[in-house]
Amino acid sequence: IVRMEKLNKSFGDLHVLKNIDLEVTPGEVVVIIGASGSGKSTLIRCINGLEEFQQGELEVDGNPLKPHGKATQALQKIRTEVGMVFQQFNLFPHLSVLDNVTLAPMKVRGLGRHEATDTAERLLDRVGIADQAAKYPTQLSGGQQQRVALARALAMEPRLMLFDEPTSALDPEMIGEVLDAMRELANEGMTMLIVTHEMGFAREVADRVIFIHKGEIAEEGPPETIFDSPQAEPTRQFLSRVL
Ligand code: ATP
Ligand code: MG
Repeated sequence: IVRMEKLNKSFGDLHVLKNIDLEVTPGEVVVIIGASGSGKSTLIRCINGLEEFQQGELEVDGNPLKPHGKATQALQKIRTEVGMVFQQFNLFPHLSVLDNVTLAPMKVRGLGRHEATDTAERLLDRVGIADQAAKYPTQLSGGQQQRVALARALAMEPRLMLFDEPTSALDPEMIGEVLDAMRELANEGMTMLIVTHEMGFAREVADRVIFIHKGEIAEEGPPETIFDSPQAEPTRQFLSRVL
């Protein structure tokens, strides 16, 4: 569902992504790990066109994205097909939880209020916060807000879900409930590309782990291989620091 070939991305003189080849197949859960500043967020943001790239090829669910990010029809399509959950929840503060979840399906997908509400209630129930629907984001805990963000993304029936450190801004006691919701989603067969520092979670849910070092894929493989017998020196050093 994602095919990236020799993708290169710079911010001015800073070469952030170097010849990245990445393929994600339907139903696959791919976890990206790597040190701060290695390019993980930039990589994931290229996939839904939040960042443009300068060189290489990128196709998301059959929609080609061109270098230098022209506002193409493909980009529009990708944005409706790809859901994203960020470190900061980015909920609309002036909307209730329910309205946060129904907004995009009504505006972008043209769903009626009734249908959108039904879907939203089902999704809020699925992430365990059905009873919070009438509240506003500021009245929720961080873990609850992040689960609203997840429900909101799922309401668009995405073909692919991108996560950029979804638990990094959470108090420790809230991390588990968000990871549980993500784990459930993975078990249901959602295609997911996840940047996380939660190594235990990565080992458990990932079909494949990619280690990024200074803008390059230094190593990738099944979680057992990456975590138990990493081959590349940068991977070893990184894991010895974080595990
Ligand atoms: P972290 O684990 O801290 O989130 P990361 O792996 O996600 O790090 P990126 O955010 O992708 O790293 O950043 C990669 C590099 O690109 C860093 O050196 C960063 O300073 C730089 N960078 C990121 N965004 C921009 C930007 N908008 N303009 C200029 N440089 C940027
Ligand atoms: Mg980042």
